[in-house]
Amino acid sequence: MDQANILIIGGGVIGSAIAHAVSQRSDDVFLVEQNPKLGMATSTRNSGVIHSGIYYPKNSLKARLCIEGNRLMYEFCAKHNVPFRHTGKLVVAADAHEEPALLALKKNGEDNGVEGLRLIGPDEIRAREPHITGVAALDVPSTGIVSAEDLVRTYGRLAADQGANIVQRAKVISLEPSPGAIRVGLRIGDEQDSQDETIEARCIINAAGLYADEVAALLGNMSWKIYPVRGEYCEIRGPRRTLINNLVYPLPHADALSLGVHFTKTLWGTVLLGPTARYVDAKDNYERDRLSIPDFVQGAKPLLPEVQESDLQLGYSGLRPKLVPPGGKGYADFVITRDPAVPQAIHLVGMESPGLTAAPAVAVHVAKMVEEMMD
Ligand SMILES: Cc1cc2nc3c(=O)[nH]c(=O)nc-3n(C[C@H](O)[C@H](O)[C@H](O)COP(=O)(O)OP(=O)(O)OC[C@H]3O[C@@H](n4cnc5c(N)ncnc54)[C@H](O)[C@@H]3O)c2cc1C
Repeated sequence: MDQANILIIGGGVIGSAIAHAVSQRSDDVFLVEQNPKLGMATSTRNSGVIHSGIYYPKNSLKARLCIEGNRLMYEFCAKHNVPFRHTGKLVVAADAHEEPALLALKKNGEDNGVEGLRLIGPDEIRAREPHITGVAALDVPSTGIVSAEDLVRTYGRLAADQGANIVQRAKVISLEPSPGAIRVGLRIGDEQDSQDETIEARCIINAAGLYADEVAALLGNMSWKIYPVRGEYCEIRGPRRTLINNLVYPLPHADALSLGVHFTKTLWGTVLLGPTARYVDAKDNYERDRLSIPDFVQGAKPLLPEVQESDLQLGYSGLRPKLVPPGGKGYADFVITRDPAVPQAIHLVGMESPGLTAAPAVAVHVAKMVEEMMD
């Protein structure tokens, strides 16, 4: 049986960033991922935006880790040649009714310590985004975009260079605590051809994204239930992609489900329109019953009146791991906690947006928890 000091379950951006951080200090680190490659789930089905931290309640983990992650992300990408662009973004009030919400967002961002926030009027909006209509906008200079695929791949490569064992096509199917360790049952291979193996780990880190509740349940911890909320995208390719120069957001939805359908000029020069937000029935339901292009056009018109159905084609979709049930109200923060009954396990649950941005800071935070645990 293999022995691990630290075994990380889930090779998304969070698990990969943690593997990179903990393998700087520890030997015998394992990162196990059920898919054939790292980052095939939520981590590469998103907008790729490096968020600033304006949206989240003061002192929440989301606010703190987003702001710290934003800084660390730019440093990491520059150092390791991960494609990124420091773009800034505009949050646009479409009409006068939205101006109080824009002011409140600015105040919230300032309370969180986000720097450089500035209100601008219609002339400056037009100068920066000639096709966007709005009465006022919040200029958020610390926002940017990153290639999520390259980011995850780079974390994985650097972790492997530091000696971490990256095991793909390996699904965790059982967790059995024993004194001072946890026995981790793995199913390795694909459905036609698989074999079961066990690794004994001194510490496990549950970074299983949409499945973090089910992984926690393998230890008997039924504290959480994750509800998948699908975000769908359309894309503008070809000459009409010049309708948007940069990143343009509406005010966030009052239901707190999402930041609203926004426009993102990608690193490849196309424009993403999305993501929408809708609870779905299954954690693999990416495509069933997709919204139509006319639905997207209707949503986009208030800010971009010129957009036509012929400009858009359907793009990919992603699933948010929400802790708030359908119809439920309120805000759920990231959960990063040691298991009360099995203290050598750390769970990361509800790692929705801004999880991509926060990943480098989450990794530092979890590496400290592991150090304290191992002392
Ligand atoms: C539509 C959308 C847009 C978003 N936009 C942004 C954005 O612009 N900026 C931002 O900062 N954040 C954004 N996010 C959030 C961000 O994508 C996530 O917070 C982040 O990717 C979460 O990473 P993760 O590693 O926790 O999850 P995942 O990428 O889901 O990784 C978890 C991994 O665990 C593996 N796994 C699960 N169970 C097991 C098991 N039993 N055994 C082995 N492996 C297992 C899965 O296969 C998966 O690869 C967005 C999310 C969505 C859905």
